[in-house]
Amino acid sequence: MNKFEQLGLNESLLKAILDLGFENPSEVQEKAIPLLLEKDTDMVALAQTGTGKTAAFGFPLIQKIDADNRNTQALVLSPTRELCLQITNELKNYSKYEKGINVVAVYGGASITEQARDIKRGAQIIVATPGRMQDMINRGLVNIKNIDYCILDEADEMLNMGFYEDIVSILSDTPDQKSTWLFSATMPQEVARIAKQFMSDPVEITVGAKNSGSATVSHEFYLVNARDRYEALKRLADANPDIFSVVFCRTKRDTQAVAEKLIEDGYSAAALHGDLSQAQRDGVMKSFRGRQIQMLVATDVAARGIDVDNITHVVNYQLPDEIETYNHRSGRTGRAGKLGTSIVIVTKSELRKISSIERIIKQKFEEKTIPSGIEICEIQLLHLATKIKDTEVDHEIDNYLPAINNVLEGLSKEELIKKMVSVEFNRFIAYYKKNRDISTQSGERRERSDSEPREFNNNGAVRYFVNIGSRDNFDWMTLKDYLKETLDLGRDDVFKVDVKEGFSFFNTDPEHTDKVMEVLNNVQLEGRRINVEISKNDGGGRRDHNGRSGGGRSSGGPRREGSGGGSFGPRREGSGGGGFRSDRNSAPREGGFRSDRNSSAPKREGGFRSATPRTEGGSDRAPRRSESFGDSPRPRRPRRD
Ligand code: ADP
Ligand code: MG
Repeated sequence: MNKFEQLGLNESLLKAILDLGFENPSEVQEKAIPLLLEKDTDMVALAQTGTGKTAAFGFPLIQKIDADNRNTQALVLSPTRELCLQITNELKNYSKYEKGINVVAVYGGASITEQARDIKRGAQIIVATPGRMQDMINRGLVNIKNIDYCILDEADEMLNMGFYEDIVSILSDTPDQKSTWLFSATMPQEVARIAKQFMSDPVEITVGAKNSGSATVSHEFYLVNARDRYEALKRLADANPDIFSVVFCRTKRDTQAVAEKLIEDGYSAAALHGDLSQAQRDGVMKSFRGRQIQMLVATDVAARGIDVDNITHVVNYQLPDEIETYNHRSGRTGRAGKLGTSIVIVTKSELRKISSIERIIKQKFEEKTIPSGIEICEIQLLHLATKIKDTEVDHEIDNYLPAINNVLEGLSKEELIKKMVSVEFNRFIAYYKKNRDISTQSGERRERSDSEPREFNNNGAVRYFVNIGSRDNFDWMTLKDYLKETLDLGRDDVFKVDVKEGFSFFNTDPEHTDKVMEVLNNVQLEGRRINVEISKNDGGGRRDHNGRSGGGRSSGGPRREGSGGGSFGPRREGSGGGGFRSDRNSAPREGGFRSDRNSSAPKREGGFRSATPRTEGGSDRAPRRSESFGDSPRPRRPRRD
């Protein structure tokens, strides 16, 4: 007799559980299921995300529903459409051997009449978001006056999202004698208020310490200068080639911008936020679940209740305004007993928030330093070596081997290995040579200053000052395009474009300086003469025109953030707002998340290709990183903006 049998679950459920592959009940399941099966009671269950709450209410619910009665007997309220669909799907799995149980999902963004029709056909269980449910009640499309069970799933998140009024109103439409089961990760006041108002003498079960972070999640923070936030994110991704993560930003705008930057820099990323259409969001989630996306950049609201297993990292690109939200974020990883890491990229002024969070999660953060370029190169090299070792050979290659062997003839094994990994190494060493260390440390430990030795030297690029800027409707991307076109330069020849109101800066290699000076000083922009000068600031550590400390070898991206109010440039037209191509089917795998404007250019000049399965061999277009040995005609300059 396994442990599920001991809980009192019936045959058909046990069979379904076997199919699900659950071997033992989780703690919340072990506590909740027998209680709920035994009697009709109200219940408040507090357990972290990922502890199996769905089955904790789902199993007893399925067992208690009268399958022969087609009336609506249970209402499950859940915060988001995604969760709603997930729960519906789960309940269907649980009840697959139980004939006649119908579960209908009710959520916004889909046809309300169709949902109403499905309910009319006889749905014993409705799983709904509060907003749409309220809508249906108002239109008289649903009758919940006789339900026996009402489940509030992720109650804290629903209230967080401002559904208090809807929930109160929906609950008032249900009979007093029903049982109410409330499931929540935390117990903020609003949840307690709902419980008090709408439940009678609920049994309370708590798993783990109240409001404490899941024990399977470790918490780390990285102290950086504000302008290095984005660079830090990239390095963390580079240092974790197999990262599968949710990256949280505070606003939709930052979410979009960071995702676009990542895509531009060759990472498999996508944005998830409320400005995307439902179809776009579904597409993003599908790709994330399918692991075609490694870094899902999301707002708190959009990421509510994301239930994707095996997320390795939660990255707090910015800390949330409400530190309680941190718990919800970090709960996206470390699910189902797996280990996970929650990372915070933090600036000095936000450091005290870390201590506040430590108090809430009752866990300590570990302070870590952003890996140096050398460390990242090492990680990536080892990763590459492992990948070569683990690569399965497709025998299609046999046809080409004689020719290839011809070319490589005479090389010893050692030489061959050396050259092979150098193909990658040369590219990323080149990138990190140009990029200073960005780590900063808290406490009495030193903060890196420009006079300290760097591991790499700057590469003598020339920095220019030009008298056009955002006042002329440029942002860094459009200015870069304009310069490239006007100067007839390649896509990587103009870099570190930094747009201010009335002027801008950009860099080129010295070889282009004559051309820049001559051509640009002789063109007009809407009747105004363009003036370009070589800037005193070579992109090195000195002060530039606007008096801001140049910050040395910092890349364009993070600098822009520090100086331009976080504006990373315009929405990319045609990419569907989420940095997500609608024609993704035509470009399998990562191709789906590349920005349109760059789709033909090899990307990720940093040279790093993480070895997640989806990025391997999937792309039918520009190959990137390591499987593309030698794909670059010349060493490419890392994109610096
Ligand atoms: P919560 O609602 O508490 O956040 P979920 O119900 O979404 O958690 O479950 C999290 C994950 O754990 C899901 O992938 C689910 O399939 C899995 N899971 C749930 N119960 C068990 C179990 N008893 N054994 C193994 N996996 C489980
Ligand atoms: Mg849940």
